[in-house]
Amino acid sequence: MNELDTHTFRLAVAQFNQAADAMHLDDNLRQRLTLPQRSLLVSVPVRMDDGRVEVFTGYRVQHDTARGPSKGGIRYHPAVTLGEVAALAMWMTWKCALADLPYGGAKGGVKVDPKQLTRGELQRLTRRYAAEIFPLIGPDKDVPAPDVGTDQQVMAWIMDTYSQQVGYAVQGVVTGKPLSIGGSLGREEATGRGVVYVTLEALRHLKVDIANATVAIQGFGNVGSHTALIMHQAGARVVAVSDVTGGLYNPKGLDVPELLRRYREHRRPLREIPLGESLTNEELLRLDCTVLVPAALSEQITQANAAALRCRILAEGANGPTTLEADRILTDKGVFIIPDILANSGGVIVSYFEWVQDVQRFFWKAKDIQDRLQDLITNAFLGQRVHDLDAIAGENLVKRKRSRRSAGFGVKLGHHCLGFRLLVCRFAGADNESQPIRRQILFRINSLQFPLYTISCGPGQSCAYDMGSRPDLAAPGDAPGSDNRHSPPSRIRDAVAPNPP
Ligand code: NAD
Repeated sequence: MNELDTHTFRLAVAQFNQAADAMHLDDNLRQRLTLPQRSLLVSVPVRMDDGRVEVFTGYRVQHDTARGPSKGGIRYHPAVTLGEVAALAMWMTWKCALADLPYGGAKGGVKVDPKQLTRGELQRLTRRYAAEIFPLIGPDKDVPAPDVGTDQQVMAWIMDTYSQQVGYAVQGVVTGKPLSIGGSLGREEATGRGVVYVTLEALRHLKVDIANATVAIQGFGNVGSHTALIMHQAGARVVAVSDVTGGLYNPKGLDVPELLRRYREHRRPLREIPLGESLTNEELLRLDCTVLVPAALSEQITQANAAALRCRILAEGANGPTTLEADRILTDKGVFIIPDILANSGGVIVSYFEWVQDVQRFFWKAKDIQDRLQDLITNAFLGQRVHDLDAIAGENLVKRKRSRRSAGFGVKLGHHCLGFRLLVCRFAGADNESQPIRRQILFRINSLQFPLYTISCGPGQSCAYDMGSRPDLAAPGDAPGSDNRHSPPSRIRDAVAPNPP
Protein backbone atom coordinates (compact mmCIF):
# COMPACT_ATOMS: atom_id res chain seq x y z
CA MET A 1 0.00 0.00 0.00
CA ASN A 2 1.73 3.20 -1.21
CA GLU A 3 0.42 5.47 1.54
CA LEU A 4 2.27 3.33 4.09
CA ASP A 5 5.45 2.92 2.11
CA THR A 6 8.08 4.53 4.29
CA HIS A 7 11.40 3.30 5.54
CA THR A 8 10.12 2.60 9.06
CA PHE A 9 7.10 0.68 7.82
CA ARG A 10 9.28 -1.39 5.47
CA LEU A 11 11.52 -2.16 8.47
CA ALA A 12 8.58 -3.33 10.60
CA VAL A 13 7.19 -5.48 7.78
CA ALA A 14 10.62 -6.93 6.97
CA GLN A 15 11.11 -7.90 10.62
CA PHE A 16 7.71 -9.55 10.68
CA ASN A 17 8.29 -11.34 7.37
CA GLN A 18 11.61 -12.68 8.59
CA ALA A 19 9.84 -14.34 11.50
CA ALA A 20 6.92 -15.43 9.33
CA ASP A 21 9.32 -17.04 6.80
CA ALA A 22 11.21 -18.85 9.52
CA MET A 23 8.08 -20.59 10.74
CA HIS A 24 6.27 -20.95 7.38
CA LEU A 25 3.43 -18.87 8.70
CA ASP A 26 0.12 -19.37 7.01
CA ASP A 27 -0.35 -16.80 4.23
CA ASN A 28 -3.78 -15.68 5.46
CA LEU A 29 -2.36 -14.63 8.77
CA ARG A 30 0.72 -13.08 7.21
CA GLN A 31 -1.31 -10.91 4.84
CA ARG A 32 -3.58 -9.73 7.60
CA LEU A 33 -0.77 -8.85 9.98
CA THR A 34 1.42 -6.98 7.50
CA LEU A 35 -1.25 -4.29 7.17
CA PRO A 36 -3.02 -2.18 9.79
CA GLN A 37 -6.62 -2.97 10.61
CA ARG A 38 -7.70 0.70 10.54
CA SER A 39 -5.96 3.94 9.58
CA LEU A 40 -7.47 7.36 10.10
CA LEU A 41 -5.97 10.50 8.57
CA VAL A 42 -7.28 13.79 9.93
CA SER A 43 -6.82 17.49 9.23
CA VAL A 44 -6.37 19.53 12.38
CA PRO A 45 -7.13 23.24 11.93
CA VAL A 46 -5.65 25.35 14.73
CA ARG A 47 -6.14 29.05 15.44
CA MET A 48 -2.62 30.32 16.04
CA ASP A 49 -1.88 33.13 18.49
CA ASP A 50 -1.39 35.60 15.60
CA GLY A 51 -4.93 34.96 14.33
CA ARG A 52 -4.05 32.71 11.37
CA VAL A 53 -5.49 29.23 11.02
CA GLU A 54 -2.87 26.58 10.36
CA VAL A 55 -3.92 23.07 9.32
CA PHE A 56 -1.83 20.16 10.65
CA THR A 57 -2.04 16.53 9.57
CA GLY A 58 -2.74 13.85 12.16
CA TYR A 59 -3.08 10.07 12.18
CA ARG A 60 -4.42 7.25 14.32
CA VAL A 61 -3.66 3.70 13.24
CA GLN A 62 -4.94 0.48 14.83
CA HIS A 63 -2.87 -2.47 13.76
CA ASP A 64 -4.75 -5.32 15.40
CA THR A 65 -7.52 -5.62 17.97
CA ALA A 66 -7.80 -9.42 18.31
CA ARG A 67 -6.52 -9.42 21.90
CA GLY A 68 -8.57 -6.44 23.17
CA PRO A 69 -8.70 -2.64 22.86
CA SER A 70 -5.75 -1.23 20.96
CA LYS A 71 -3.07 0.65 22.85
CA GLY A 72 -0.36 3.02 21.72
CA GLY A 73 1.15 6.46 22.15
CA ILE A 74 0.64 9.73 20.34
CA ARG A 75 3.69 11.37 18.83
CA TYR A 76 4.10 15.05 17.96
CA HIS A 77 7.05 15.38 15.61
CA PRO A 78 7.66 17.10 12.27
CA ALA A 79 8.73 13.79 10.65
CA VAL A 80 5.55 11.87 11.54
CA THR A 81 4.05 10.02 8.54
CA LEU A 82 1.29 7.47 8.12
CA GLY A 83 3.90 4.78 7.42
CA GLU A 84 5.84 5.57 10.59
CA VAL A 85 2.69 5.54 12.70
CA ALA A 86 1.61 2.24 11.11
CA ALA A 87 5.01 0.68 11.88
CA LEU A 88 4.85 1.84 15.48
CA ALA A 89 1.30 0.44 15.74
CA MET A 90 2.50 -2.94 14.47
CA TRP A 91 5.33 -3.01 17.02
CA MET A 92 2.75 -2.24 19.72
CA THR A 93 0.83 -5.39 18.77
CA TRP A 94 3.91 -7.55 19.30
CA LYS A 95 4.87 -5.66 22.45
CA CYS A 96 1.48 -6.10 24.11
CA ALA A 97 1.38 -9.78 23.13
CA LEU A 98 4.87 -10.39 24.46
CA ALA A 99 3.99 -8.88 27.84
CA ASP A 100 0.70 -10.81 27.73
CA LEU A 101 -1.43 -7.67 28.00
CA PRO A 102 -5.06 -7.85 26.81
CA TYR A 103 -4.42 -5.24 24.12
CA GLY A 104 -3.87 -4.88 20.41
CA GLY A 105 -1.46 -2.36 18.93
CA ALA A 106 -2.13 1.23 17.86
CA LYS A 107 -0.28 4.51 17.44
CA GLY A 108 -1.11 8.11 16.62
CA GLY A 109 0.71 11.22 15.64
CA VAL A 110 0.57 14.79 14.42
CA LYS A 111 3.09 16.22 12.00
CA VAL A 112 4.16 19.21 14.07
CA ASP A 113 7.12 20.52 16.02
CA PRO A 114 5.55 21.07 19.47
CA LYS A 115 8.48 23.24 20.56
CA GLN A 116 7.38 25.86 18.00
CA LEU A 117 3.90 26.17 19.53
CA THR A 118 2.79 28.26 22.47
CA ARG A 119 0.95 26.48 25.28
CA GLY A 120 -2.37 27.81 24.00
CA GLU A 121 -1.65 26.61 20.46
CA LEU A 122 -0.59 23.20 21.76
CA GLN A 123 -3.80 22.89 23.75
CA ARG A 124 -5.99 23.87 20.77
CA LEU A 125 -4.09 21.47 18.50
CA THR A 126 -4.50 18.62 20.98
CA ARG A 127 -8.18 19.22 21.62
CA ARG A 128 -8.98 19.40 17.90
CA TYR A 129 -6.92 16.29 17.16
CA ALA A 130 -8.72 14.47 19.99
CA ALA A 131 -12.09 15.55 18.60
CA GLU A 132 -11.13 14.27 15.13
CA ILE A 133 -10.02 10.83 16.36
CA PHE A 134 -12.95 10.62 18.81
CA PRO A 135 -14.78 7.95 16.77
CA LEU A 136 -11.84 5.57 17.14
CA ILE A 137 -10.81 6.00 20.77
CA GLY A 138 -12.41 4.98 24.06
CA PRO A 139 -11.55 2.83 27.10
CA ASP A 140 -12.93 -0.28 25.39
CA LYS A 141 -11.77 0.62 21.89
CA ASP A 142 -8.39 2.31 21.71
CA VAL A 143 -6.41 3.92 24.53
CA PRO A 144 -3.72 6.51 23.64
CA ALA A 145 -0.68 7.38 25.79
CA PRO A 146 2.25 9.81 25.58
CA ASP A 147 5.13 9.30 23.16
CA VAL A 148 7.81 11.58 21.70
CA GLY A 149 6.71 15.22 21.95
CA THR A 150 3.65 14.58 24.16
CA ASP A 151 3.30 14.38 27.93
CA GLN A 152 0.79 14.07 30.75
CA GLN A 153 -0.63 17.52 30.08
CA VAL A 154 -1.44 16.50 26.51
CA MET A 155 -3.12 13.35 27.84
CA ALA A 156 -5.18 15.45 30.27
CA TRP A 157 -6.44 17.61 27.39
CA ILE A 158 -7.38 14.51 25.39
CA MET A 159 -9.23 13.00 28.35
CA ASP A 160 -11.09 16.26 28.93
CA THR A 161 -12.07 16.63 25.26
CA TYR A 162 -13.35 13.06 25.17
CA SER A 163 -15.20 13.48 28.47
CA GLN A 164 -16.88 16.66 27.23
CA GLN A 165 -18.27 14.74 24.25
CA VAL A 166 -19.78 11.94 26.34
CA GLY A 167 -20.84 14.10 29.28
CA TYR A 168 -18.92 12.52 32.15
CA ALA A 169 -15.27 11.98 33.16
CA VAL A 170 -13.78 8.98 31.36
CA GLN A 171 -10.43 8.33 32.98
CA GLY A 172 -9.70 5.12 31.10
CA VAL A 173 -9.63 6.79 27.68
CA VAL A 174 -5.92 7.65 27.94
CA THR A 175 -3.01 6.61 30.12
CA GLY A 176 0.00 8.62 31.22
CA LYS A 177 -2.31 11.21 32.81
CA PRO A 178 -1.54 13.37 35.86
CA LEU A 179 -2.19 11.56 39.15
CA SER A 180 -4.97 13.96 40.13
CA ILE A 181 -7.22 12.81 37.27
CA GLY A 182 -6.61 9.06 37.42
CA GLY A 183 -2.96 8.69 36.49
CA SER A 184 -0.88 5.91 38.00
CA LEU A 185 2.02 6.11 40.37
CA GLY A 186 5.16 4.98 38.61
CA ARG A 187 3.92 5.61 35.06
CA GLU A 188 6.36 8.43 34.29
CA GLU A 189 9.48 6.39 34.96
CA ALA A 190 7.94 3.05 33.92
CA THR A 191 9.68 2.69 30.56
CA GLY A 192 13.11 3.47 32.00
CA ARG A 193 12.45 1.20 34.97
CA GLY A 194 11.47 -1.61 32.61
CA VAL A 195 14.67 -1.08 30.59
CA VAL A 196 16.64 -1.50 33.82
CA TYR A 197 14.73 -4.62 34.97
CA VAL A 198 15.32 -6.50 31.70
CA THR A 199 18.93 -5.33 31.53
CA LEU A 200 19.50 -6.69 35.03
CA GLU A 201 18.14 -10.05 33.83
CA ALA A 202 20.45 -9.97 30.81
CA LEU A 203 23.45 -9.16 33.02
CA ARG A 204 22.51 -12.03 35.32
CA HIS A 205 22.28 -14.33 32.32
CA LEU A 206 25.70 -13.22 31.05
CA LYS A 207 27.09 -13.48 34.60
CA VAL A 208 28.15 -9.84 34.73
CA ASP A 209 28.01 -8.15 38.12
CA ILE A 210 26.04 -4.89 37.95
CA ALA A 211 28.84 -3.17 39.88
CA ASN A 212 31.20 -3.92 36.97
CA ALA A 213 28.77 -2.80 34.29
CA THR A 214 29.19 0.44 32.37
CA VAL A 215 26.20 2.02 30.63
CA ALA A 216 25.90 4.53 27.77
CA ILE A 217 22.51 6.06 26.94
CA GLN A 218 21.53 7.93 23.80
CA GLY A 219 18.60 10.28 24.51
CA PHE A 220 17.92 12.02 27.80
CA GLY A 221 14.17 12.52 27.63
CA ASN A 222 11.61 10.44 29.48
CA VAL A 223 13.09 7.04 28.70
CA GLY A 224 16.79 7.97 28.70
CA SER A 225 16.82 10.07 31.87
CA HIS A 226 14.86 7.57 33.97
CA THR A 227 16.95 4.70 32.66
CA ALA A 228 20.09 6.63 33.66
CA LEU A 229 18.86 7.38 37.16
CA ILE A 230 17.55 3.89 37.92
CA MET A 231 20.68 2.25 36.46
CA HIS A 232 22.76 4.50 38.71
CA GLN A 233 20.60 3.60 41.73
CA ALA A 234 20.96 -0.09 40.85
CA GLY A 235 24.73 0.23 41.11
CA ALA A 236 25.83 0.46 37.46
CA ARG A 237 28.31 3.06 36.24
CA VAL A 238 26.55 5.37 33.76
CA VAL A 239 29.50 6.63 31.74
CA ALA A 240 27.74 8.60 28.99
CA VAL A 241 24.39 10.20 28.17
CA SER A 242 23.29 12.43 25.29
CA ASP A 243 20.44 14.52 23.96
CA VAL A 244 19.84 15.84 20.46
CA THR A 245 22.71 18.35 20.83
CA GLY A 246 25.36 15.82 21.92
CA GLY A 247 26.41 14.27 25.19
CA LEU A 248 28.63 13.96 28.23
CA TYR A 249 31.20 11.28 29.03
CA ASN A 250 32.89 10.38 32.30
CA PRO A 251 34.68 7.01 32.40
CA LYS A 252 34.48 6.99 36.21
CA GLY A 253 30.70 7.30 36.07
CA LEU A 254 28.51 10.40 35.83
CA ASP A 255 26.83 11.84 38.91
CA VAL A 256 23.40 11.18 37.43
CA PRO A 257 21.20 12.72 40.18
CA GLU A 258 23.20 15.97 40.06
CA LEU A 259 23.22 15.94 36.26
CA LEU A 260 19.44 15.52 36.16
CA ARG A 261 18.95 18.29 38.69
CA ARG A 262 21.03 20.74 36.65
CA TYR A 263 19.53 19.61 33.33
CA ARG A 264 15.97 20.15 34.57
CA GLU A 265 16.64 23.35 36.49
CA HIS A 266 18.85 25.16 34.02
CA ARG A 267 17.30 23.75 30.82
CA ARG A 268 20.70 23.80 29.11
CA PRO A 269 21.95 21.31 26.50
CA LEU A 270 23.61 18.35 28.22
CA ARG A 271 27.01 18.96 26.70
CA GLU A 272 27.16 22.40 28.38
CA ILE A 273 26.89 20.96 31.90
CA PRO A 274 30.42 20.62 33.34
CA LEU A 275 30.12 17.13 34.80
CA GLY A 276 32.09 15.28 32.11
CA GLU A 277 33.77 15.58 28.73
CA SER A 278 31.51 16.39 25.80
CA LEU A 279 31.04 13.83 23.05
CA THR A 280 28.87 13.49 19.94
CA ASN A 281 25.96 11.09 19.60
CA GLU A 282 27.94 9.02 17.12
CA GLU A 283 30.88 8.76 19.55
CA LEU A 284 28.50 7.66 22.29
CA LEU A 285 27.19 4.79 20.18
CA ARG A 286 30.74 3.56 19.59
CA LEU A 287 31.83 3.65 23.25
CA ASP A 288 33.31 0.54 24.80
CA CYS A 289 30.65 -0.28 27.39
CA THR A 290 28.70 -3.17 28.84
CA VAL A 291 25.25 -1.81 28.03
CA LEU A 292 24.23 0.59 25.28
CA VAL A 293 20.71 2.01 25.51
CA PRO A 294 19.46 3.87 22.43
CA ALA A 295 16.58 5.91 23.87
CA ALA A 296 16.01 8.60 21.25
CA LEU A 297 14.61 8.01 17.78
CA SER A 298 14.34 5.05 15.40
CA GLU A 299 17.05 3.82 12.99
CA GLN A 300 20.04 5.22 14.89
CA ILE A 301 22.06 2.01 14.55
CA THR A 302 22.51 1.22 10.90
CA GLN A 303 24.73 -0.67 8.49
CA ALA A 304 27.04 2.36 8.62
CA ASN A 305 27.85 2.22 12.33
CA ALA A 306 26.81 -1.24 13.62
CA ALA A 307 30.20 -2.83 13.08
CA ALA A 308 31.80 -0.11 15.21
CA LEU A 309 29.60 -0.72 18.25
CA ARG A 310 31.52 -2.13 21.22
CA CYS A 311 28.75 -2.87 23.70
CA ARG A 312 28.02 -6.32 25.09
CA ILE A 313 24.30 -5.73 25.53
CA LEU A 314 22.10 -3.52 23.38
CA ALA A 315 18.94 -2.63 25.32
CA GLU A 316 16.61 -0.94 22.84
CA GLY A 317 14.84 1.78 24.83
CA ALA A 318 13.64 3.57 21.68
CA ASN A 319 11.26 2.03 19.19
CA GLY A 320 12.99 0.62 16.12
CA PRO A 321 16.48 2.02 16.83
CA THR A 322 18.23 -0.76 14.88
CA THR A 323 17.81 -1.41 11.15
CA LEU A 324 17.56 -4.97 9.86
CA GLU A 325 21.06 -4.84 8.34
CA ALA A 326 22.49 -3.58 11.63
CA ASP A 327 20.60 -6.29 13.48
CA ARG A 328 22.40 -8.95 11.42
CA ILE A 329 25.81 -7.34 11.95
CA LEU A 330 25.29 -7.12 15.71
CA THR A 331 24.02 -10.68 15.92
CA ASP A 332 27.14 -11.86 14.08
CA LYS A 333 29.27 -9.88 16.53
CA GLY A 334 27.54 -11.70 19.38
CA VAL A 335 25.91 -8.59 20.88
CA PHE A 336 23.09 -9.58 23.22
CA ILE A 337 20.13 -7.58 21.89
CA ILE A 338 17.16 -6.91 24.13
CA PRO A 339 14.66 -5.93 21.45
CA ASP A 340 12.54 -2.81 21.70
CA ILE A 341 9.27 -4.70 22.03
CA LEU A 342 10.65 -6.17 25.24
CA ALA A 343 13.13 -3.58 26.50
CA ASN A 344 10.79 -0.59 26.40
CA SER A 345 7.57 -2.44 27.27
CA GLY A 346 7.59 -1.10 30.86
CA GLY A 347 5.66 1.94 29.61
CA VAL A 348 2.76 0.01 28.18
CA ILE A 349 2.77 -2.42 31.10
CA VAL A 350 2.26 0.37 33.63
CA SER A 351 -0.19 2.04 31.23
CA TYR A 352 -2.13 -1.20 31.46
CA PHE A 353 -2.00 -0.95 35.27
CA GLU A 354 -3.27 2.63 35.02
CA TRP A 355 -6.17 1.58 32.79
CA VAL A 356 -7.08 -1.27 35.17
CA GLN A 357 -7.02 1.15 38.14
CA ASP A 358 -9.17 3.68 36.25
CA VAL A 359 -11.73 1.10 35.20
CA GLN A 360 -11.89 -0.37 38.72
CA ARG A 361 -11.70 3.02 40.46
CA PHE A 362 -9.20 1.41 42.81
CA PHE A 363 -5.66 2.75 42.98
CA TRP A 364 -2.49 0.89 43.91
CA LYS A 365 0.63 1.77 45.88
CA ALA A 366 3.92 2.55 44.12
CA LYS A 367 5.46 -0.63 45.51
CA ASP A 368 2.63 -2.77 44.04
CA ILE A 369 3.22 -1.20 40.66
CA GLN A 370 6.98 -1.70 40.72
CA ASP A 371 6.65 -5.32 41.84
CA ARG A 372 4.03 -6.14 39.23
CA LEU A 373 6.05 -4.43 36.51
CA GLN A 374 9.14 -6.40 37.46
CA ASP A 375 7.11 -9.59 37.48
CA LEU A 376 5.55 -9.10 34.06
CA ILE A 377 8.62 -7.81 32.25
CA THR A 378 10.89 -10.46 33.76
CA ASN A 379 8.45 -13.17 32.71
CA ALA A 380 8.44 -11.76 29.20
CA PHE A 381 12.25 -11.81 29.20
CA LEU A 382 12.55 -15.32 30.56
CA GLY A 383 9.87 -16.59 28.21
CA GLN A 384 11.79 -15.56 25.12
CA ARG A 385 15.34 -16.67 25.89
CA VAL A 386 16.67 -19.42 23.75
CA HIS A 387 18.50 -21.08 26.59
CA ASP A 388 15.16 -21.44 28.31
CA LEU A 389 13.91 -23.22 25.27
CA ASP A 390 17.01 -25.31 25.19
CA ALA A 391 16.11 -26.51 28.63
CA ILE A 392 12.58 -27.33 27.59
CA ALA A 393 13.09 -28.64 24.10
CA GLY A 394 16.12 -30.72 24.93
CA GLU A 395 18.48 -32.16 22.41
CA ASN A 396 16.39 -31.90 19.24
CA LEU A 397 16.31 -28.16 19.24
CA VAL A 398 19.64 -27.65 20.88
CA LYS A 399 21.69 -29.81 18.53
CA ARG A 400 20.40 -28.04 15.49
CA LYS A 401 20.64 -24.55 16.79
CA ARG A 402 23.27 -24.38 19.46
CA SER A 403 26.24 -22.50 18.17
CA ARG A 404 28.39 -19.70 19.34
CA ARG A 405 25.44 -17.56 18.39
CA SER A 406 22.80 -19.42 20.30
CA ALA A 407 22.10 -16.39 22.45
CA GLY A 408 21.99 -14.23 19.37
CA PHE A 409 19.59 -16.64 17.78
CA GLY A 410 17.13 -16.36 20.57
CA VAL A 411 17.52 -12.69 20.92
CA LYS A 412 17.26 -12.06 17.23
CA LEU A 413 14.02 -13.94 17.07
CA GLY A 414 12.98 -12.14 20.16
CA HIS A 415 12.77 -9.15 17.88
CA HIS A 416 9.70 -10.83 16.54
CA CYS A 417 8.18 -12.31 19.63
CA LEU A 418 5.16 -13.48 17.74
CA GLY A 419 7.40 -15.36 15.37
CA PHE A 420 9.56 -16.56 18.17
CA ARG A 421 6.67 -18.04 20.06
CA LEU A 422 5.26 -19.68 16.96
CA LEU A 423 8.68 -20.89 16.01
CA VAL A 424 8.76 -22.83 19.22
CA CYS A 425 5.84 -24.86 17.92
CA ARG A 426 7.45 -25.17 14.52
CA PHE A 427 10.70 -26.60 15.82
CA ALA A 428 9.00 -28.77 18.33
CA GLY A 429 6.66 -30.21 15.77
CA ALA A 430 9.25 -30.66 13.09
CA ASP A 431 10.63 -33.93 14.32
CA ASN A 432 8.78 -37.17 14.91
CA GLU A 433 10.95 -37.91 17.89
CA SER A 434 9.94 -34.70 19.57
CA GLN A 435 6.32 -35.59 20.26
CA PRO A 436 6.60 -35.34 24.05
CA ILE A 437 8.56 -32.16 23.74
CA ARG A 438 5.91 -30.65 21.57
CA ARG A 439 3.34 -31.32 24.22
CA GLN A 440 5.46 -29.68 26.87
CA ILE A 441 6.01 -26.62 24.82
CA LEU A 442 2.40 -26.20 23.91
CA PHE A 443 1.54 -26.55 27.56
CA ARG A 444 4.08 -23.96 28.44
CA ILE A 445 2.78 -21.48 25.94
CA ASN A 446 -0.78 -22.04 26.96
CA SER A 447 -0.03 -21.83 30.61
CA LEU A 448 1.24 -18.34 29.90
CA GLN A 449 -2.07 -17.80 28.10
CA PHE A 450 0.00 -16.28 25.41
CA PRO A 451 -1.46 -17.38 22.09
CA LEU A 452 -2.14 -14.41 19.92
CA TYR A 453 -3.70 -16.78 17.47
CA THR A 454 -4.37 -20.45 17.80
CA ILE A 455 -1.52 -22.36 16.30
CA SER A 456 -1.36 -25.99 15.47
CA CYS A 457 1.44 -28.06 14.09
CA GLY A 458 2.30 -31.71 13.99
CA PRO A 459 5.33 -33.86 13.38
CA GLY A 460 7.05 -32.74 10.22
CA GLN A 461 4.45 -30.03 9.55
CA SER A 462 4.55 -26.29 9.47
CA CYS A 463 2.57 -24.30 11.95
CA ALA A 464 -0.79 -23.28 10.58
CA TYR A 465 -3.18 -20.58 11.54
CA ASP A 466 -6.26 -22.10 13.09
CA MET A 467 -9.30 -20.10 12.01
CA GLY A 468 -11.17 -21.25 15.05
CA SER A 469 -12.68 -24.36 13.47
CA ARG A 470 -10.67 -26.80 15.56
CA PRO A 471 -12.37 -28.04 18.71
CA ASP A 472 -9.23 -27.50 20.75
CA LEU A 473 -5.62 -26.64 20.44
CA ALA A 474 -4.48 -30.23 20.14
CA ALA A 475 -1.84 -30.58 17.48
CA PRO A 476 -2.81 -32.68 14.43
CA GLY A 477 -0.74 -35.56 15.72
CA ASP A 478 -2.93 -35.90 18.82
CA ALA A 479 -5.50 -38.68 18.73
CA PRO A 480 -9.11 -37.70 19.49
CA GLY A 481 -9.74 -37.97 23.18
CA SER A 482 -6.05 -37.80 23.98
CA ASP A 483 -4.85 -35.81 26.93
CA ASN A 484 -5.40 -32.21 25.98
CA ARG A 485 -4.58 -30.60 29.27
CA HIS A 486 -2.44 -28.16 27.40
CA SER A 487 -5.44 -26.66 25.55
CA PRO A 488 -6.30 -23.14 26.64
CA PRO A 489 -9.72 -22.48 28.13
CA SER A 490 -12.23 -22.00 25.32
CA ARG A 491 -12.89 -18.44 26.49
CA ILE A 492 -9.36 -17.51 25.61
CA ARG A 493 -9.43 -19.46 22.39
CA ASP A 494 -12.65 -17.75 21.29
CA ALA A 495 -11.36 -14.38 22.27
CA VAL A 496 -8.21 -14.70 20.23
CA ALA A 497 -9.65 -16.20 17.07
CA PRO A 498 -9.79 -13.24 14.69
CA ASN A 499 -12.12 -12.82 11.72
CA PRO A 500 -11.00 -14.54 8.55
CA PRO A 501 -9.13 -12.06 6.39
P1 NAD B 1 11.44 12.32 24.68
O1 NAD B 1 10.92 13.29 23.65
O2 NAD B 1 11.09 12.53 26.09
O3 NAD B 1 13.06 12.25 24.60
C1 NAD B 1 13.75 12.05 23.41
C2 NAD B 1 15.23 12.31 23.69
O4 NAD B 1 15.98 11.99 22.52
C3 NAD B 1 15.54 13.75 24.02
O5 NAD B 1 16.56 13.80 25.01
C4 NAD B 1 16.09 14.31 22.71
O6 NAD B 1 16.98 15.40 22.91
C5 NAD B 1 16.82 13.09 22.19
N1 NAD B 1 17.01 13.10 20.73
C6 NAD B 1 16.14 13.47 19.79
N2 NAD B 1 16.69 13.32 18.57
C7 NAD B 1 17.93 12.82 18.78
C8 NAD B 1 19.00 12.46 17.93
N3 NAD B 1 18.87 12.58 16.60
N4 NAD B 1 20.12 11.98 18.49
C9 NAD B 1 20.23 11.85 19.82
N5 NAD B 1 19.26 12.18 20.68
C10 NAD B 1 18.13 12.68 20.16
O7 NAD B 1 10.97 10.89 24.15
P2 NAD B 1 10.83 9.57 25.01
O8 NAD B 1 9.44 9.48 25.50
O9 NAD B 1 11.97 9.47 25.96
O10 NAD B 1 10.95 8.45 23.86
C11 NAD B 1 12.22 8.06 23.35
C12 NAD B 1 12.04 6.79 22.53
O11 NAD B 1 11.47 5.78 23.37
C13 NAD B 1 11.10 6.89 21.34
O12 NAD B 1 11.55 6.03 20.33
C14 NAD B 1 9.77 6.38 21.89
O13 NAD B 1 8.92 5.89 20.86
C15 NAD B 1 10.28 5.28 22.78
N6 NAD B 1 9.36 4.89 23.83
C16 NAD B 1 8.91 5.79 24.75
C17 NAD B 1 8.07 5.37 25.77
C18 NAD B 1 7.59 6.30 26.85
O14 NAD B 1 6.92 5.83 27.78
N7 NAD B 1 7.92 7.56 26.80
C19 NAD B 1 7.64 4.03 25.81
C20 NAD B 1 8.13 3.14 24.86
C21 NAD B 1 8.99 3.59 23.88
